[in-house]
Amino acid sequence: MTPNDRMRAAELACRCVLRLGRSTLPVDPYTMLRYSRGVYLYPLDELPGRILSEGRDALQPLRNGKVAAVSFSTDPDHCVICYQPEAYPPRLLFSMAHELGHLVLRHCGGPSDRASTQERMADLFASCLLMPPPLLSLLAREHGGLYAEQLAGVFGVSPLAAFYAASNAAIPLREETRLAIEQLLLETARRRFPTRVSGRWHPMPPMAQP
Ligand SMILES: [Zn+2]
Repeated sequence: MTPNDRMRAAELACRCVLRLGRSTLPVDPYTMLRYSRGVYLYPLDELPGRILSEGRDALQPLRNGKVAAVSFSTDPDHCVICYQPEAYPPRLLFSMAHELGHLVLRHCGGPSDRASTQERMADLFASCLLMPPPLLSLLAREHGGLYAEQLAGVFGVSPLAAFYAASNAAIPLREETRLAIEQLLLETARRRFPTRVSGRWHPMPPMAQP
């Protein structure tokens, strides 16, 4: 993934957050997917028979619990996103954001058609959608040392996903995007910030400022 790929994924993710325009956290990829043109969104146990047969291979990792959501195209204009509603909520949230990433970044086909770079870009998109980089750097500046569990509490992700997001804080975004994200979500992030710390929590790696 080039620095340009990283900037593109982060910028597009933040613009999706701004387009939805909600000042609540966690960021909601379900609503974004529900309102995306040409997207059919199904819980695993409500899949129509036609999709079950067309997406048999793509659905396999979802059926055996390896992933919490998958997406695949049924034709050039339509995309099916199928998810396991029983999955651990932070995992499901990240998976939905990841599948939205494939859609926004225009990664066609199904899981077996995608290159590993595309998977890493969709992960980066998901991370920046759920934990917008401007908020990470602002919270790091306000609190100094952060714990992964604190960010997990603010953003509804797993502590591991929060830990890996540290390197996103320094991704440069357009100034207007950065300011708009701050205006939309910083107060909410501050309100949700857990103040009590447990001795078993994991310190975040240092975050470079953009
Ligand atoms: Zn993927």
